Amino acid sequence: MDLYEYQGKELFKRFGIPVSDGRLATTPQEARAAAEEIGGQVVVKAQVLTGGRGKAGGVKLAEDSADAEAKAKDILGLDINGHVVRKLWIERASDIAKEYYLSITFDRGAKKPLYMLTTEGGVEIEQVAEQNPDALARLHVDPLEGFQPYQARRLIYGSGIDDPNEQKQLLGIVEKLYRCFVESDAMLTEINPLIVTPEGEVRALDSKFTVDDSALFRHPDIAEMRDVEAADPQERLAREKGVTYVKLDGDVGILGNGAGLSMSTVDVVVVAGGKPANFCDLGGGGDAQGVVDALEVITSDEQVRSIFFNIFGGITRCDEVARGILTALDQMKIELPIVVRLDGTNAEEGRRILADAAPPNLYVEPTMLEAAQRAVELAA
Ligand code: GDP
Ligand code: MN
Repeated sequence: MDLYEYQGKELFKRFGIPVSDGRLATTPQEARAAAEEIGGQVVVKAQVLTGGRGKAGGVKLAEDSADAEAKAKDILGLDINGHVVRKLWIERASDIAKEYYLSITFDRGAKKPLYMLTTEGGVEIEQVAEQNPDALARLHVDPLEGFQPYQARRLIYGSGIDDPNEQKQLLGIVEKLYRCFVESDAMLTEINPLIVTPEGEVRALDSKFTVDDSALFRHPDIAEMRDVEAADPQERLAREKGVTYVKLDGDVGILGNGAGLSMSTVDVVVVAGGKPANFCDLGGGGDAQGVVDALEVITSDEQVRSIFFNIFGGITRCDEVARGILTALDQMKIELPIVVRLDGTNAEEGRRILADAAPPNLYVEPTMLEAAQRAVELAA
């Protein structure tokens, strides 16, 4: 789950990472009131779950509260990379002498959290990594050993930051960011830019924060931050129904049992020359309700032209899944063609059940590849 800048900063603040004073606003009037409370120059910042807001005109300096209201009017409703701005963060404006970058991500190859620090902040980190890799200090933390203060020093020296006053503040921020990362079960915490003011104060001016969805149950306060309105409507429906679903941009709806098989199904549809509309994992079961829920989510996507049901019966029995499919088709009206491939435990019985009932829009294919080809054909 990705957090908005203001939510990430709220977590930064809890862990003692310095941020600027700010307020949330959803209307130009609220932006004005917020700016009045803060006093002086403020920055009006679009709150959307995408980067590059500054370049897209979603971050603007305002001289006073009247100006903040005007800037809020400009930014609200703006489309930034497909995200419409409905919320603003009004923040006390900072004077910037330097822009640094600091982040922690998972390095899956090394199986360790990875710090990155560079004095070339403010721009996309990928650009720094490509054009000036030597300017990027990288350091792994052994998760069992945990954070050690020498690591912060090594990281800071590695980045070439040599001002003792900055080093001192950074030591604290680097350590706190690790605690924030681990204790929030984050997968990414990024500060870009991490600024140094003309007075020499180091502060987080932006936040990018991703929390592991699977750990949200341990963080009810963070789970509550989810903005249901901003979520994709199909993904929201799926979450409500407890269906594992990821929307993709093709037209072949996919339903498999088990994450591995569902991913292979996505691949095989591509091999067959088609474009998957989604990834959907029915899980271990295959009962009628599970099938109905999954089909409801898949068919709510108007781009879907055919549905590919790929089931391998292990503990799940294919005859049960077949009955589930028929019950689901009884309960809901689906006109889209549905291609079914059943294999594994009780596959023959499952296929016979489907053949006996023979709903007009149901196609049973013997293998995964043939089923994929048929589903792709039917979507065309
Ligand atoms: P992003 O474009 O989505 O990464 O949004 P940021 O929060 O990083 O803001 C983009 C840029 O706006 C920053 O790199 C800063 O250069 C600038 N900016 C943001 N806040 C302030 C501020 O308080 N004062 C000044 N002078 N510039 C700011
Ligand atoms: Mn930024």
